[in-house]
Amino acid sequence: MSQLNFLITAGPTQEPIDPVRYLSNYSSGKMGYALARAARIKGHRVILISGPTALSKPKGVKSIDVITAREMYSAVMKNYRKADIIIKVAAVADYRPQNVSKSKIKKTKKNLNLKLVCNPDILKELGKKKRKNQVLVGFAAETSGGFKNAFKKLKEKNCDWIVLNQVGKKGTGFGSDFNKVILLARNGMGLGLKKGRKTDLASKIINIIIGLYPLLKS
Ligand code: C5P
Repeated sequence: MSQLNFLITAGPTQEPIDPVRYLSNYSSGKMGYALARAARIKGHRVILISGPTALSKPKGVKSIDVITAREMYSAVMKNYRKADIIIKVAAVADYRPQNVSKSKIKKTKKNLNLKLVCNPDILKELGKKKRKNQVLVGFAAETSGGFKNAFKKLKEKNCDWIVLNQVGKKGTGFGSDFNKVILLARNGMGLGLKKGRKTDLASKIINIIIGLYPLLKS
């Protein structure tokens, strides 16, 4: 297989509330970074768009750092066109505070109401813009109703693959070095991978996606 262009997003996004606080999630970025490293090791070109993580960047990968979902959206829109395979592992915050206070919000005895507004759905937008020969891979981190939600996302976001990983269980998912995933393809194919290190799973996932690229790229 000739050299392919990968665009991979990883990590959480952080949505500011005031200069010292933000909304985010438990994503560590480990799965996305492992996929970027695996694709690079197999000789492909990789752009990694990453939210804030504590990880060191994979060698030989072009990396772009972002903080918020809207920054990730802009970075993805600037870079997706050349990509043959786009993997959206990032746990993008679905909502952000409508107003960001310029100064630290002081504690009072009253409850504080934060109004949240929707962030752009980057994957959905890519699903609309996807060109021929481009394969789009989404991730679904589910605590319940995994299959149903994953199939719904596959359809609604016009993906070629959805990688379902269960979160909220000890020993896999967010923050862990291990994961357990099921790959669901647009043509109805399903592939379950045994629980393993994210680094090993990443290599297998990249092999599967590349192996079936010719079939799913239409
Ligand atoms: O949040 P959700 O479970 O729907 O995320 C599923 C997929 O959608 C993931 O691949 C994630 O990167 C992507 N997503 C996105 N933009 C959002 C929310 C999710 O690209 N605002």
